[in-house]
Amino acid sequence: MEKIIVHAKFHTGHRQLGYPGECRFVHGHTWRGTVAISTEEFPRDELDMSLDFGHIKKIMRDLDHKILVTPNDATFMNPELFEPEGIVVMKGKGPSVENVAVYVWEHVVETIRAKYPGRNIDYRIEVTIQETENNFFVVEKNAVV
Ligand SMILES: [Zn+2]
Repeated sequence: MEKIIVHAKFHTGHRQLGYPGECRFVHGHTWRGTVAISTEEFPRDELDMSLDFGHIKKIMRDLDHKILVTPNDATFMNPELFEPEGIVVMKGKGPSVENVAVYVWEHVVETIRAKYPGRNIDYRIEVTIQETENNFFVVEKNAVV
């Protein structure tokens, strides 16, 4: 078994629309993300490298200094009120730590697919997102890419 582990840190704003507490107001977090990808044996490119660690890190770094939103946030989705390049739109009902982890997990799959299309290799992909000092969410599941 081989495993790649990549850490990244990113600062973002978000809000939980409809949440009955202060999380409904725009606030920021310094998130820490860890992506662990394992498989029996990674494919290698012409330099004997498996995946570019920088490409995995970039998925998380691209969230840095952005507002994370979901399509139901009419304020941030309105380009006349907020610069579109300043937001990252995620699936779901709110930019929760759960949806941030799923967003990263899905982009990891796309990054692998772009590098090694049509290989049908079974990967175990674990994405850990740390929202605060004490709160983590982990998505860990397989993808055949
Ligand atoms: Zn928050």
